[in-house]
Amino acid sequence: MKTKQQYIDSLRRLNLEVYLFGERVSNPVDHPMVVPSMNAVAATYELAQGDVMTAISHLSGERINRFTHIHQSTEDLVRKSRMERLMGAYTGTCFQRCAGMDALNTLSVVTFNIDRAHGTRYHQRFLDFLHYVQKDDLVCDAAMTDAKGDRRLRPAEQADPDMYTRIVGEDREGIVVRGAKLHQTGALNSHEIIVVPTRAMREEDKDYAISFAIPSDTKGVIYIYGRQPSDTRKLEGETYDVGNLSYGGHECLVVFDDVFVPWERVFMCREYDFASQLVETFASYHRQSYACKSGMGDVLIGATQTIAEYNGIADAPHVRDKIVEMNHLNETIYCCSLACAYEGAPEPSGTYYVNSLMANITKLHVTRVPYELARMAHEIAGGAVVTVPSEKDLRNPQIGRFVEKYMRGSPDAPAENRMRVLRLIESLTMGMGASCYLPESMHGAGSPQAQKIMIARQVNLGLKQKAAGRLCGII
Ligand code: SF4
Ligand code: FE
Repeated sequence: MKTKQQYIDSLRRLNLEVYLFGERVSNPVDHPMVVPSMNAVAATYELAQGDVMTAISHLSGERINRFTHIHQSTEDLVRKSRMERLMGAYTGTCFQRCAGMDALNTLSVVTFNIDRAHGTRYHQRFLDFLHYVQKDDLVCDAAMTDAKGDRRLRPAEQADPDMYTRIVGEDREGIVVRGAKLHQTGALNSHEIIVVPTRAMREEDKDYAISFAIPSDTKGVIYIYGRQPSDTRKLEGETYDVGNLSYGGHECLVVFDDVFVPWERVFMCREYDFASQLVETFASYHRQSYACKSGMGDVLIGATQTIAEYNGIADAPHVRDKIVEMNHLNETIYCCSLACAYEGAPEPSGTYYVNSLMANITKLHVTRVPYELARMAHEIAGGAVVTVPSEKDLRNPQIGRFVEKYMRGSPDAPAENRMRVLRLIESLTMGMGASCYLPESMHGAGSPQAQKIMIARQVNLGLKQKAAGRLCGII
């Protein structure tokens, strides 16, 4: 396994084409806009020890980072949920490495099934790729979400055919692809990009039914860095005004400008009949991963309890009740994630898969709970969460003493501590950290309606009606 430093060094060797604020960035690794997100991924290397964060590879028998592991048991799935929570609480942000793990497990399931149905040889190709990822302890960016264009139209019906990533050329060596993947979490911190389709496909869409992996610095791959609220605070020098001092997340618009993919890296090529299985398998694995948000919830609850103490209101019955309610909601996320892991079962490839219904329930809770926690945090923190002066004002020789005097709450808590924790709550609920805690909870791994569709499909209403009907004598 790589050390944290070896991981950072490995990023330096990449030659990515990155744009930020309209300019090419030659060295993203040291760019202050990117560093916090890199720190968060680096933490997945820093903490890689013990049975939660590591596992034994079923391919090599070697100890590997769990983020590169293929689940061999329900215990593996359970440990994955534990790892998600642990990392969420440790970084207080999105640590960006889960979608890659989920894509690897998805391909482990689906390439096997495609081969069985079509007589193809994708599974062995995938295992060769997996072995490389495990051996070099790589970060994979799972690239799913296409531009989608007019949402009413299918891929082949779009006015611009590049709205979904597609094959535009093919020869004996490989395929050429064009399109874009949006909202790519941690793209700049990744060694490999694993592309998967974003939706079910029909025969007319078959050029869009593709999956492959390429090194992140492959020619023609362009990264356009996405903005986050208050992101230029990162350019103000070291300041606690950023809220979370060390960690953050990032997303990129990733363009595939006629990118060549050799055949040995192609895991699906026009098998449109397996696109929906691939999408649903990935979605379920990734919806389990949102236990990460219970870890972020731990941080927000901790910050809220702290500000309640600093404000002198921690013992007020309604505040105590709200803190209990925050914990109750936050633990619900974790309970759901654990449940879908414990109810997991092996697929024909031998890979363990979560209970898909419960994974969707997990994620649907995640689309609501963090918003509710944020509301309660705001209520307890008070208006200062949006009005607190900057760190520079606190340090100013003329006015610093006034900031110190009037920003103090309870006499035993320094004003600076109170300002720091307010900034953390601000970041998590409406600043840079909120990108990862709120809209990512809403839309990451699919928007709420996507979960409702899967839930509607998977619940057995007939069985429930039978149970009711038997008891009241109508059947
Ligand atoms: Fe992992 Fe959560 Fe970030 Fe998704 S949102 S990559 S599950 S930390
Ligand atoms: Fe995500």
